[in-house]
Amino acid sequence: MLWLEDLYQILGVARDASQAELKKAYRQLVRQYHPDTNKDNPEAEEKFKKINAAYSVLSDPEKRARYDQFGATDSGGGNPFEGGFAGGFGDIFGDLFEQVFGGGMGGRRFDPNAPRRGADLEMNVRVTLLEAANGAARNLEIPRWDSCPTCRGTGAKPGTSPKTCGTCGGRGQVESVQRTPFGQFASVNTCPQCQGGGKVIQERCEECGGRGQVRKTHQVEVKVPPGVETGTRLRVTGEGEGGLNGGQRGDLFLVIEVQRHKDFEREGGDLHSRLVLTYPQAVLGASIEASTLIDGQEKIDVPPGTAHGRVLKLRGKGMPRLRGPRGRGDLYLHVFIDVPSKLTDKQRELVTALAKEMNVPVSAGEEGIFDKFKKFFD
Ligand SMILES: [Zn+2]
Ligand SMILES: [Zn+2]
Repeated sequence: MLWLEDLYQILGVARDASQAELKKAYRQLVRQYHPDTNKDNPEAEEKFKKINAAYSVLSDPEKRARYDQFGATDSGGGNPFEGGFAGGFGDIFGDLFEQVFGGGMGGRRFDPNAPRRGADLEMNVRVTLLEAANGAARNLEIPRWDSCPTCRGTGAKPGTSPKTCGTCGGRGQVESVQRTPFGQFASVNTCPQCQGGGKVIQERCEECGGRGQVRKTHQVEVKVPPGVETGTRLRVTGEGEGGLNGGQRGDLFLVIEVQRHKDFEREGGDLHSRLVLTYPQAVLGASIEASTLIDGQEKIDVPPGTAHGRVLKLRGKGMPRLRGPRGRGDLYLHVFIDVPSKLTDKQRELVTALAKEMNVPVSAGEEGIFDKFKKFFD
């Protein structure tokens, strides 16, 4: 348990370490033990919590001073949660306690047999832009801890049952009275025999090795609602890690990543794409079909004299919204005028005539290699 360990040792620094040294050590350890880089590693997770708890005390000069004072007067291993010593430790270690065990434990004393909620799980889910628009279903395979079916979570071999710990009488903690210059106070330590569980397993369950839980891969059917974006977190209630002592399951969080689309760019609820027009269409206007992501081909009227770069808006043809006002964003078509690199003789003739009519200088009459070659044989 945390309070049996020296906070300086947890951070691997000397007792006279400066705040800068503490911070440096803390940062290094956090990087090393961060849950993101230690997936499925409960030891690293435990260590990570301790590091944070230790730093929260030592980085606060006032709390650190009180911890130092306590450490100097305690003959070793006292549990400051219980002592009521000088009335001053409750808040320091109360904070610590909250950080290590999380809220919702109900009371100050850590009860190892109280139901503990399972940890939350997080999983990345990639969807296409079209799936983000229409919603999608996924059948996910999730490895997680579940109550052992053989021993029903007790950890004891079927037919046997865990016995009440003789050392602590089932309390999970052993008390001793300490005398210090400040007076006498009771120190409560985790029972070394049962590690705080209050029960000792005589014969371990063979399936789970006494843990009471087994690792299993579950199929979970999840629905991704329309309108998700990259970074959207969706909660699937009760599909996280199994709880201990009959505690409820944690939740599963889906972190969405929307893949890029080759033709459509997303900007919040709006979509952007290119509308490719030929020169005559841009000049004369046209009634053409444009691709929308969600609604197939859409007939649109391009007005005469549409310039390159002009933006045509198709109201309500964008992405659906996940939150906020209902309805959909808009689709913006950015006009792009396609200039052909190859022309037929007739087309060249017409464009040249147009240039003459508009009185603009062009490289008129200039022929490509192919034309010269053709003429040579004629
Ligand atoms: Zn078992
Ligand atoms: Zn015990």
